[in-house]
Amino acid sequence: MEVDIITTPKGFHCKLCNIDMPNKPSLDEHVKGRKHKTLTDVRATRQAQEERSVFVSGFQKDASQTQLTEYFQRFGDVENVIFDKDKGVYAIVQFSEIEGQQTALSQLVHEINGQRLRVKPREKKGFKLINKKKTDFQNLQEVLERLKPVLVQAETVNEQMHCVVERIQLTENKKNARALLVQLIQEVFTEFFPDSQIMAFGSSVNTFGIHSCDLDLFLDLENTKTFQARAKSSTEPVAEASSDDGRSEDSILSDIDLSTASPADLLELVAAILKKCVPGVHKVQVVASARLPVVKFHYHQLDLQGDISINNRLAVRNTRYLQLCSGLDARLRPLVYTIRYWARQKQLAGNVGGAGPLLNNYALTLLVIFFLQNSDPPVLPTVDQLKAMACEEEECVIEGWDCTFPSQPIAVPPSKNEQDLCVLLAAFFSFYATFDFAGSVISLREGRALPVTSFIGQTREETTQEEEEEEAMEEEQPRQPHNQALKLGPLNLLDPFELSHNVAGNLSERSQLNFQRECQEAEKYCRSLQYLRKSTKGKPWGLVRLFTPHGEGPKHKNQDGSADKDMSISIPFRLALLPEGLRAQLQQAGDDFRPLWFQRVCVAVVQVFQNVLKCGPGSLTEPTPAGDPGHADAAPGSCVSMDATSEELNTSNDSGVAGQDSPRSTAAAAVGTKRPLSSESSDASTSPQGKKARLGRGPKPGAPCWTWSQTHAVWAGRRKVRRELVKETVDSRPEGSSTALETQVTEHILEKQPRVKVPLVFRVQAKLVGATQSTKVLLQIHPPSEGKDHFRDFFHFLEVFLPKMVDTLMETTM
Ligand code: ATP
Ligand code: MG
Repeated sequence: MEVDIITTPKGFHCKLCNIDMPNKPSLDEHVKGRKHKTLTDVRATRQAQEERSVFVSGFQKDASQTQLTEYFQRFGDVENVIFDKDKGVYAIVQFSEIEGQQTALSQLVHEINGQRLRVKPREKKGFKLINKKKTDFQNLQEVLERLKPVLVQAETVNEQMHCVVERIQLTENKKNARALLVQLIQEVFTEFFPDSQIMAFGSSVNTFGIHSCDLDLFLDLENTKTFQARAKSSTEPVAEASSDDGRSEDSILSDIDLSTASPADLLELVAAILKKCVPGVHKVQVVASARLPVVKFHYHQLDLQGDISINNRLAVRNTRYLQLCSGLDARLRPLVYTIRYWARQKQLAGNVGGAGPLLNNYALTLLVIFFLQNSDPPVLPTVDQLKAMACEEEECVIEGWDCTFPSQPIAVPPSKNEQDLCVLLAAFFSFYATFDFAGSVISLREGRALPVTSFIGQTREETTQEEEEEEAMEEEQPRQPHNQALKLGPLNLLDPFELSHNVAGNLSERSQLNFQRECQEAEKYCRSLQYLRKSTKGKPWGLVRLFTPHGEGPKHKNQDGSADKDMSISIPFRLALLPEGLRAQLQQAGDDFRPLWFQRVCVAVVQVFQNVLKCGPGSLTEPTPAGDPGHADAAPGSCVSMDATSEELNTSNDSGVAGQDSPRSTAAAAVGTKRPLSSESSDASTSPQGKKARLGRGPKPGAPCWTWSQTHAVWAGRRKVRRELVKETVDSRPEGSSTALETQVTEHILEKQPRVKVPLVFRVQAKLVGATQSTKVLLQIHPPSEGKDHFRDFFHFLEVFLPKMVDTLMETTM
């Protein structure tokens, strides 16, 4: 058997590849496999290289690769010279043949430019597959494994939550070690930048840190700038100018003018100082592309990742705000730790390397605080309320943003809310399970959800960066905060202070949907006995089951055990995709923007079925499914209009849509009803603020229902037809992005393909949901009683095609 293979109680283990195999056949397969072969070859090459190499030290710091190559070339052909990456203290000289190495070692004295070198055989390291560094997620997984038995033993969910904090929080020892590092960095920087100040912010100090969290530092150079300006204006020679405590200006300050230097230049300087002058610091790297550029580093002794930024006063202040909130109510920390942990397990948070499409810890913490501002009675005050409680000396404005709040929790009256952690955690999930993310902007400042349409005109599309900068230059004053751009997205979470910044602006639509879906799952679980009651048999309960990693939870099935067969298609509200004219109308509608948008979507839906897919009127003989509201009124081939008045019809059909049937009018008639919406929206439970939800104050939209028939398989072979047509028309846009092309594709199919055996007659019912969940239009598709299997293909096509086509139509015709 190969030397790398050992037998284990569970079968075999390959030491080289670090893989377990259960039996002999899988072992044989592995040994013959590519991975094992490649690693065996790599190991052989490395070993041969080691034998041909020498370890060299003692050369001058600035010695170059060429210098060493030239020197060692006299002993044999030199293949490569590799310096140690960080400090240039040693080098490996690799010869092409082993003779070169032997000759070099046989010479006793080596010298380059009078500098004595030390030359030794290269140390032979056992070849080991370096496992990629464990991710944070894997670390957390391990913590959970160790935490599980402790949590199972706890008596209550409250106790479990405290246990989570205790196990994963940053310990006092680690905090102290970090403080010492901050002190060391401060001392070094003071040497180069007199009067500068290094401040820690973020999770190391905001009371929500975990043991592996990074160290965020802010280098404040304001006082150094003053010092430099004073030195410059002084008649004394610059080198003799001194700071308050008698230190003199270092040569670095003679090289760079802090008042005019670009942030990129300053960061390069910071990086150079860190690299050269702070012992233990390595892997220093300037990341200039981040929203806030930083210098990243690693501190060896504490195995710690750190960031230094030079323009981040707002983050220092929001860190103080989080500290204050922790001090205001002791329930915040256990809630935040538990929710952060849950979010990690469900892969909702934890962007690799800081940026990414998921929630970051700061955003998640703000979501918890917002929820606590909205609990009944509130656990935490709004930021505006806090401002009112601050005294004059606590007033604070940074970059034009009001960041005033009391410095001590004592200034804030305690909450009257007495709910325990177990109840609050469940309430957090139900709060966000039914939250209208698409239609809202979350404001911690006001402690309420603002309608997203009220931010039209302040979004990125309207104001360009250059325009803002120009404005600021013209006025010769700091940029007016409210002129800045807000990036709207699937989750809009306003920073509590920088009110033009969407803290979750990076979040993808998929992440937002996953977040809400997981909140819904968690809410359901929190209603079960397994959450509330300790298992007497030592089984997982409470938080243990809540922390089941993503994808391992039970799949939800219908009562008959089948997967969900529901035929519905949703069209989400995406403000950014809407044309300017419609956005202006929505903005005017204020809180009532949803019915207006719904009406426009319905118009587009009709256009898709009628004009693009050429569906005809539904047959009168199509049976009505029992218990189906609204269907009884169904007029075949048209939309079911419930109580639509001619006035509503007219007002909603003002901007001519092509087609003599005027689908806009039929759809508008359907929507402009006085009858309440679907049961889903009329039953709408409580709003995020705990009040009874409403879709708007205007006329309540209806739940229009249309009956359509289709005689051809308009979904089959579309791609091929489109490709052929595209060749002729040079219109190469993707599926669903051109009305004319898609219409042509359908016409082609109708002309060239045979009819389906039995025409498909189906119904589509539109419902507006929102206010108590993300604003969207839900299209319920009722399949025909005949040709169901056939229809399923049509439905799968519609699932993808319809939302895209509706977006296109809304963009181009409204
Ligand atoms: P951790 O490092 O454990 O993930 P953190 O709170 O330190 O948590 P970082 O991403 O390191 O998170 O950010 C450091 C600090 O920078 C935050 O605590 C917050 O003060 C500020 N910050 C982070 N992200 C944002 C953001 N999107 N908008 C505004 N401030 C932010
Ligand atoms: Mg951090």
